[in-house]
Amino acid sequence: MPAKRSPSAPGEADKLIAYQSRLLKAPRIAEHYHRLAEQGREAGWTLEDYLGAVLAVESNARAQSGAHQRIRYAGFSAIKTITDFDFTAQPGVDRAQIARLEAGGWLAEARNVVLLGPPGTGKTHLATALAIAAAHAGHRVAFAPATGWITRLAEAHRTNRLDAELRKISRFGLIVIDEVGYISYESRGADLLFQIISRRHEKRSLVLTSNLAFSDWHTVFPNAACTVAMIDRLVHHAQVINLKGDSYRLKDRDLGRTPTNDTE
Ligand code: ADP
Ligand code: MG
Repeated sequence: MPAKRSPSAPGEADKLIAYQSRLLKAPRIAEHYHRLAEQGREAGWTLEDYLGAVLAVESNARAQSGAHQRIRYAGFSAIKTITDFDFTAQPGVDRAQIARLEAGGWLAEARNVVLLGPPGTGKTHLATALAIAAAHAGHRVAFAPATGWITRLAEAHRTNRLDAELRKISRFGLIVIDEVGYISYESRGADLLFQIISRRHEKRSLVLTSNLAFSDWHTVFPNAACTVAMIDRLVHHAQVINLKGDSYRLKDRDLGRTPTNDTE
């Protein structure tokens, strides 16, 4: 039986809590226990309720700061969320499908998402938003344009670290390969891209964006067989989302309008 504990002298418990919370590297316990105790006394919490509430502030804060770190180091060009995506600008995009993707079940199944469409239609926005949702759910994520991934691997190859770098990349829960098809690839670059995609196939998810339909990928990739193999692995377990229309960047600007003769 544990020894019976009598209430400690005024101030003693506070000192002990401050000390223990430092020892545990759990600063939010020291910050919030007092406020929560008052709240709990008022609401008639049990001791178990109180302990649960104190632990929750610490664990929630840790989850938050973990997500914050993962987002910070992911390499996003801008922070975008599903909430600030204007679905009325993309009537062909199924809001419920995006909400399901945001919930993250596809990551556990190592499925992919491919976003296709002309420039400015929100591909990078949605890719970023899905990766941020994944980071909040605890996944390590990384974002780069296709050329960025190729440069990273080419550099690793040059210094005899290609395999280690590929293994490192395969450990991310989700990677985004943005802007495939804006430039043509040399066969070495295409091969490196193929290696990233095939290593993740059925193991880890990726999001890929491209301004080119798959039928046009042969215009930027040099080797037809490799291109077919790459697309095959990519779409094997993938949701392909087609974005359409004019660039959102030019929305509300004269530039975005199709020229007409009317003067309004
Ligand atoms: P893409 O990658 O298809 O070229 P982006 O995702 O970079 O296009 O979109 C260009 C800009 O327009 C970004 O600032 C993005 O946040 C914004 N944008 C595009 N589509 C939408 C949308 N449907 N709702 C809100 N913002 C959008
Ligand atoms: Mg883009």
